[in-house]
Amino acid sequence: MKFLIWAVIVFLIVAWIMRNKNAANRAGTGQSGAAAPGRNTQSEAILQCAHCGVHVPASEAVRHAPGAVFCSEAHRRLTYPDA
Ligand SMILES: [Zn+2]
Repeated sequence: MKFLIWAVIVFLIVAWIMRNKNAANRAGTGQSGAAAPGRNTQSEAILQCAHCGVHVPASEAVRHAPGAVFCSEAHRRLTYPDA
């Protein structure tokens, strides 16, 4: 009888811990789900290099006056040597 009481107590403690873990996991995924749209708003346009065709983020692209976009200063110079 003593063993049965202890088994029930241990079972209740384990069940309580598992329920708290699941609640914490759900809260964690909820937070990451809420952060995902924020990440999407921070995404930036990907532009194609006019010289080699490589796609680069807009913040890293090298722009030229006619609107041409390049992956690097070297490719800008290769396309417009005198600019
Ligand atoms: Zn390039």
